[in-house]
Amino acid sequence: MILNGEGSVSAHLAMAELEGLEFGKSDFVLLDEVTMEQFMENLKLRFQKGRIYTFIGEVVVSVNPYEQMDIYSKETIEAYRGRELYENPPHLFAVADAAYKAMKRRAKDTCIVISGESGAGKTEASKYIMQYIAAITNPSQRAEVESVKNMLLKSNCVLEAFGNAKTNRNDNSSRFGKYMDINFNFNGDPTGGHINNYLLEKSRVMKQQGGERNFHSFYQMLRGSSKDLLESLHLEKDAAVYTYTREGAASSTSSNDSSNHKAVLSALKVIGFTAEEINSIYKILGTILHLGNLEFESDGENVQVAGVELVNHIAALTRTKPDDISKTLLFRTVATGGGEVIAKGHSEQEASFGKDAFAKAMYERLFGWIVSRINSVIEVKNYNPMLHGKNTVIGVLDIYGFEIFDNNSFEQFCINYCNEKLQQLFVELILRQEQEEYKREGITWQHIEYFNNQIIVDLVEQPHKGIISILDEACLNVGKVTDIMCLESMDTKLGQHPHYTSRKLCPTDKSMEFHRDFRIRHYAGDVTYSVEGFLDKNKDPLFQDFKRLMYNSEDPVLKEMWPEGQLSITEVTKRPLTAAMLFKNSIIALVDKLACKEPYYVRCVKPNEVKSPMLFDDGRCQHQVAYLGLLENVRVRRAGFAYRQPYARFLQRYKMTCEYTWPNHLMATDREAVKAIIDHHGFQGDVAYGHTKLFVRTPRSLFTLEQERAAL
Ligand code: ATP
Ligand code: MG
Repeated sequence: MILNGEGSVSAHLAMAELEGLEFGKSDFVLLDEVTMEQFMENLKLRFQKGRIYTFIGEVVVSVNPYEQMDIYSKETIEAYRGRELYENPPHLFAVADAAYKAMKRRAKDTCIVISGESGAGKTEASKYIMQYIAAITNPSQRAEVESVKNMLLKSNCVLEAFGNAKTNRNDNSSRFGKYMDINFNFNGDPTGGHINNYLLEKSRVMKQQGGERNFHSFYQMLRGSSKDLLESLHLEKDAAVYTYTREGAASSTSSNDSSNHKAVLSALKVIGFTAEEINSIYKILGTILHLGNLEFESDGENVQVAGVELVNHIAALTRTKPDDISKTLLFRTVATGGGEVIAKGHSEQEASFGKDAFAKAMYERLFGWIVSRINSVIEVKNYNPMLHGKNTVIGVLDIYGFEIFDNNSFEQFCINYCNEKLQQLFVELILRQEQEEYKREGITWQHIEYFNNQIIVDLVEQPHKGIISILDEACLNVGKVTDIMCLESMDTKLGQHPHYTSRKLCPTDKSMEFHRDFRIRHYAGDVTYSVEGFLDKNKDPLFQDFKRLMYNSEDPVLKEMWPEGQLSITEVTKRPLTAAMLFKNSIIALVDKLACKEPYYVRCVKPNEVKSPMLFDDGRCQHQVAYLGLLENVRVRRAGFAYRQPYARFLQRYKMTCEYTWPNHLMATDREAVKAIIDHHGFQGDVAYGHTKLFVRTPRSLFTLEQERAAL
């Protein structure tokens, strides 16, 4: 617990003790003993009493309530506005305000990192945080700032429609990672923002697990559009008609697709998408659904598209020629060794694979285009630091949580790797650096053990040796190396790694001969990945012919999405970066971005698997508390020093509480003067003297000092 020293500590004590009686401890640092048992007891008690937030110092632990709570009102916002962290009960708003204050008062870039597994409440938390920031800024209601705020808030609605889907874990699961920077001017008012998106799970476009849905956007369009629009897209209302949306057609979600469709349309308009652009978006969604229904037939020699009607629809929606569509679906252009360019016919299987790859790529491009279109509108324009002062930033990170499914593939591998990286940042900043400060200041300190997951990060990303490198090496040998061969290579190279289990080397595994998976012991648990499709997903091939077809479309939006379609087959770069490598690079850049900001953490816990507001599943919660490293977090905060301050600042604040230091001290150093104050109050046992700072173990001594100061 790092108190600023400027806030009312006594108020926090009052609040903590008040809450302590009835609602458990509002800060885990105040537990009598830091044991898993006490931690869980407190977490459960608070959840059952409707207290979903608890502090660990400045970190907020949140438990998903799975019901609407009356704790986000205007009045609550007012109660948190401008107050110190400990003046109010734990809340997201307290953290948002702390991040905002640090940014405004000290001109620091800050970031709020929200983590937790799928369904734990990250996206909801990020939205409340943004709402809070929007509510407390621009008190003078300047129109241009209001418009920026409105666009930032509305972008959530659009991104959720296109990037979220119902999964078995969460009805509104984010299938992409999102990091949003909000820019502020010298007055602390938002001037714009920027969204970075990470690896959209595009395989969902063509295939979903049982009981899951495709991205919301498809159902919203089908269920919410007017009859006329659907007719113009040659679509029927029923999602069961389309191969790509059939699986999810029957499954309901808690939200209403039709009314959400209207909200998305209105958000798109507010952000500034033109009617033409909106139309292009729906034409692309329609194209993807038609592509899904396309089938191929072969007479043994020639492959053909079964049914020309769909080809005509696709041509109409993409503003291309039906003949060109058919040709692109059935042939690919290849350059022969002699430099000749020929059209090579696909097999039925290749054609079908190419079509799905095309549909996935279309959706991915659409999503990327929407994000960049939003960015072009919200980015800060005409900002002159000489005129307007330093431009500061608050970053909000809401990225897919750790995932363990029945069947884990390449996407889960990437998502879980990303979570390892974020956990590593937490370990680094909260656990390691905290302890290093004690070392630096020369404080005697009993080292707290914690699990450092760097070893798992290395297993995945280390150059030449890590899983991503091995995958990439396999992808270089196009057509020769199979998923299984790649797995064998991983087994050989990584079989001895403590966090990698080769199923082949596992003597008890009866399916040894047919092994198709490997297991990683992640910080959050063991995950078995099925290697099937890994290489294809990593290579992510899409025939150049599709790109060229789209680039030559009459639709300006489509054309803009496929700039590399202008390259001829001989100009195409042979080896674009693989999906895993691109992802790795983007995550490393993300971590760099976060690491240079002052971090604030929200750690989300999912209370049960059945989305119930009543149920606190002890086992599941304990597991999350354990892997999130929350207990270690409390120990480091507590066994350490709740409060620290440079000697001069401490003296300034409390010198009036001691006759030897008031109004000025005569000692050789500030450190000695501070010692005089501490001795005068009898707090010797509660403090340690660092090289430059005083460290105070419990807040209690400070509360007393604060009270004395206030009474003078
Ligand atoms: P994913 O990693 O799958 O995207 P997530 O952590 O972002 O998951 P959310 O989508 O934020 O999870 O939350 C899942 C659901 O839980 C929400 O749709 C909502 O129903 C409920 N929920 C989460 N937080 C709250 C809250 N503070 N108040 C009420 N309901 C909530
Ligand atoms: Mg989410």
